[in-house]
Amino acid sequence: MRYIEPHAHMVSRTTDDYERMALAGCEVVCEPAFWAGFDRSAVEGFYDYFSQLTEHEPGRAAKFGLKHFCWLCINSKEAEDVKLAEEVIALIPKFLNRPNVLGIGEIGLNKNSKNELRVLEMQMDLAAKHNQLILVHTPHLEDKLKGTKLILDVLKNDKRIRPERCIIDHVEEHTVELVLDAGLWAGMTLYPETKCSPARAIDILETYGHEKIWMNSACDWGASDPLAVPKTALEMKRRGHLEVVIEKVILENPKTFLSQSPNFKI
Ligand SMILES: [Zn+2]
Repeated sequence: MRYIEPHAHMVSRTTDDYERMALAGCEVVCEPAFWAGFDRSAVEGFYDYFSQLTEHEPGRAAKFGLKHFCWLCINSKEAEDVKLAEEVIALIPKFLNRPNVLGIGEIGLNKNSKNELRVLEMQMDLAAKHNQLILVHTPHLEDKLKGTKLILDVLKNDKRIRPERCIIDHVEEHTVELVLDAGLWAGMTLYPETKCSPARAIDILETYGHEKIWMNSACDWGASDPLAVPKTALEMKRRGHLEVVIEKVILENPKTFLSQSPNFKI
């Protein structure tokens, strides 16, 4: 099996996880900027984090033959402090020309607050100004549908943003159609507890098809499994999906979307 892990928070993972992913057939890992497991107190914390994502993690991945790419932003969990967000957003352009940067992400909403929405608009503007791909995080549980609709409104209102250059992650049964109908890409996050289980993700594929959709493990600070993508591919095989369909979802689709960034060379 060969696959791309399009959304993994490797800074929260041990080097053994890189090895397990490589052994399972992972060739490329993409790491959106996210929460550090705690709230950072100052913009300098983000400077160090962006340096880690663009300088240090590619080296850790390369030891196992994995290519490492990343996305930059201030995540919605830390976006309540608008002044801090402004400082972080001002810092990002300095890092955009690093060779492993794919775009702005994962931006989005966490609790659908006013400040989060303001910071989301600021980061959409940043992406549009610098012609960057966009990766969007959607809130969980009862906030997901409302948050997804708010995000789609912001995207539609900014005429500079092309929907095919934007992926909405953590879609579920009640949001996937909204996202695909808007011409955007959709990501399904495979989680052992919250979010999509492998079985649910495959049900979604069987219902909504295999176009403009990918799967990822997120593998962050919460209970998560860095091998969720290959395990789901195995389950697809067990359920009778053709090899070519499985390969499309776990390898070709991420490649097609990510290749819209000139930095994505594999
Ligand atoms: Zn994430």
